[in-house]
Amino acid sequence: MRIQPSKIPQDGLRICLQENLEVEGLKVEGPVRVNLEVRKVGNSILLEGSLACEVELECADCLDAVKTSVTSSFTADYRPVPKQPVEGEVELAEAELDVSYFHGDEIDLRDLLREQVVLGIPLRPLCKEDCRGLCPVCGGNRNRSVCGCASEGTDPRFRVLQKLKGEGHGKSNK
Ligand SMILES: [Zn+2]
Ligand SMILES: [Zn+2]
Repeated sequence: MRIQPSKIPQDGLRICLQENLEVEGLKVEGPVRVNLEVRKVGNSILLEGSLACEVELECADCLDAVKTSVTSSFTADYRPVPKQPVEGEVELAEAELDVSYFHGDEIDLRDLLREQVVLGIPLRPLCKEDCRGLCPVCGGNRNRSVCGCASEGTDPRFRVLQKLKGEGHGKSNK
């Protein structure tokens, strides 16, 4: 997952690659598929691409393992690290947050791709759309078994409603 800027032809480069990528704190299943278009514009190496991979996450409701497809599209602008940064240039660099820098004649894409994998993760991964989650009383997985806990009783609103209903009955019984 490296690009050598000196080997990019003037009319650009198309790259398809499949490689394993380790992402800290994340279980990436199988290789990451990457499509890249690389162009040289002046000093800049411009990338436009997309990636796809499968990651194993925890269901937000029941904590079961969920395999999720992650896709992400991205652009990046790589420039050589200025050898002797001029003051004006440093200010400019700080203003351009989207610019990454590379040393020598090698752009390592792994950090960019890791970031894109993480950005592509769903906020609330679910094992299935109607996941029933964990029982708040016994902690059992309600997708697998009905535990029989009176989970309604744990909802304070429900208790108030039951009380109201009970009082209503009390009056009518008198
Ligand atoms: Zn679930
Ligand atoms: Zn339960």
